[in-house]
Amino acid sequence: MIDLNKDIQYVKGIGPKKSQKLNKLNIFTLKDLLYYFPRQFEDRNNLKKIIQLGNNEKATIKVVIAGVSTSSPRKGMDITKVDVRDETGYAKLVFFNQPYIKNTFKCGDTILVFGKIKKEFKNVELSCCEVEHLTNFPKNTCKVMPIYPLTYGVSNKEIISIIKNVLSDKELKIQEYLPQRIIEKYKLCSIDYAVRNIHSPSSKEALKIALYRIVFEEFLILQLGLFMFKNGANEAEGIKFEESKKLNSILKSLPFKLTGAQDRALSEIIDDMQCEKAMNRLVQGDVGSGKTVVALLALANCALNGYQGALMAPTEILAEQHYISLTETLESFGIKVELLVGSLTKKQKEKVLEKVKNNEVDILIGTHALIEDKVEFDNLGLVITDEQHRFGVRQRSKLSEKGENPHILVMTATPIPRTLALILYGDLDISIIDELPPGRQPIETIAVDKSKRDRAYNSLVRKEVEKGRQVYIVCPLVEESEAIEAKAAVELVEELRLEYFTDLRVGLLHGKMKGSEKDAIMKSFKNKEIDILVSTTVIEVGVNVPNATLMIIENAERFGLAQLHQLRGRVGRGKHKSYCILIYASKSEVCTQRMSIMQETNDGFKISEKDLEIRGPGEFFGTRQHGLPELKVANIFKHMKILKLAQQEARYIVCEDHKLQNLENKILKKEIIEKFEHSVKEISLN
Ligand code: ADP
Ligand code: MG
Repeated sequence: MIDLNKDIQYVKGIGPKKSQKLNKLNIFTLKDLLYYFPRQFEDRNNLKKIIQLGNNEKATIKVVIAGVSTSSPRKGMDITKVDVRDETGYAKLVFFNQPYIKNTFKCGDTILVFGKIKKEFKNVELSCCEVEHLTNFPKNTCKVMPIYPLTYGVSNKEIISIIKNVLSDKELKIQEYLPQRIIEKYKLCSIDYAVRNIHSPSSKEALKIALYRIVFEEFLILQLGLFMFKNGANEAEGIKFEESKKLNSILKSLPFKLTGAQDRALSEIIDDMQCEKAMNRLVQGDVGSGKTVVALLALANCALNGYQGALMAPTEILAEQHYISLTETLESFGIKVELLVGSLTKKQKEKVLEKVKNNEVDILIGTHALIEDKVEFDNLGLVITDEQHRFGVRQRSKLSEKGENPHILVMTATPIPRTLALILYGDLDISIIDELPPGRQPIETIAVDKSKRDRAYNSLVRKEVEKGRQVYIVCPLVEESEAIEAKAAVELVEELRLEYFTDLRVGLLHGKMKGSEKDAIMKSFKNKEIDILVSTTVIEVGVNVPNATLMIIENAERFGLAQLHQLRGRVGRGKHKSYCILIYASKSEVCTQRMSIMQETNDGFKISEKDLEIRGPGEFFGTRQHGLPELKVANIFKHMKILKLAQQEARYIVCEDHKLQNLENKILKKEIIEKFEHSVKEISLN
């Protein structure tokens, strides 16, 4: 039997040259190749007559060759034209720079041609043709053509032929890893059949059966993996908290009354924490909906019950901000709050750690410094992750492992459509804060071409500053490196200080600055010592300065919708009317689409749904966002029914055998670990 983990270059018929090309597609082993599934299929069963062809469509015709001619209009350019006909008309096939091809055509032969149609009046031309001579064409082969996702330098034809060659090896057999019970229950085909028929379907029906199996399997593995990471926390016995009387006094001491939605979320949380079972809850609320105070009250309730709580945030700025607001509110009630972030000195850290261990700290706030091994709690009762989409699955569970079944709360401002939530948080209860605090005015968003940049700076920025408000200017996103991004930010500040706002106070914030520097800048922005804060995306999440009312985003086309929405959420946090100016420098369709969505709505749920539509769930599930294995074929919209079945089955499996140790689940477990490890290195399952 052939080892599927074999390096691709040693596979029969592949060799170093082809393997280099395959590496470009992230194909390194035989298994990678076999699981390199087509992106779509073109149905070539539907033969058309020449007379039925429409301009710009792709179609297959069955025709007789009537003549071949070649020409060479320029040096280095060869055109081969082939006249063909059927009983309804004539057409021309056009081939560029394939001089050898003319020898393959013989007048009078019948061929099948698939190509792109250009039709002007009665002239029909087919380009990018793929031709099949009917004589060498076995009758009962299905004409469904796989189309692979490719990069430059690798053609679809090459991939098809490489895979065909591999599949024809008699020794090849892909071992089944789904338990027989599941195969029978859901009437799935074997993995061997599925892989073969996805690449080279023997019939349309076979392709359908193959796809069904793969979709089911992708969902099942994703879901099982997720459940396993969560350690079956749902079933764990929790710590029973009482609702403390003091909580009411804390509520009363707040400068505002909770909104109805906040109130609801809070009681759901308090109820959960009174229950036998450990809480496992997600709070979804749009930017600015007031999630922090809900977290604060949950943590206070934990502390008042004599347990320690932890709050983890993705950035230092955010952690510090939480630290300040929690200290302000809770200290007078005798609740001790501490901060643990990377930029503390060693000594400071040691002191905090000591206190946490000795239970002299009630609430510990920090970045992922919290999950380091040396952090030990005395009696951790509640763990909260803010902006959870910024953390990997593993990071989250690492924090809760520091206690004995602590209650778990995760908060996100990237609301996701229900369908997605169902997968990602299949085992979580969900609270939704779908109401903004009173008095907020919707942010007015205006997208302008970069030629209007001057106007935006000279009139809008000044106007807001004159009213006593403050302004954020976000520099273009640079994907490659934080350092280049920081440099761009420095340059922008120079430009602004020298050219536009010589008389205003312009500050700078970027990811390469030291924690203490960032801290100082944020403090002076909060204290109104800075009028305009130029920043990279480090301010994307959580930052809260209600007096800031104008946000300008440069090169807005480089950001995704969800990110633009997060950034925009930095303004509109107080009672003043706020604006967001998106300056774009692209005329692409995606850009236009994004800009108009941003102008139309402030609703995070709607935006993320659109985002999903534009980018497709594939990217949404990309490793950057969630650290989850990629769904290659499964589509959460199209395959909702299969998703639900797979989810049910995953629940059942975890319930019966939550570590997947039974004989029939063992092989499946290996597959899950492999798939998850492919995208997330940090994950190790035991
Ligand atoms: P997010 O949900 O984005 O984390 P925050 O918790 O940062 O939002 O809250 C945004 C702002 O709204 C803060 O200034 C906070 O003090 C304020 N806020 C929260 N809840 C209320 C409320 N019920 N009434 C008035 N203001 C509120
Ligand atoms: Mg927040």
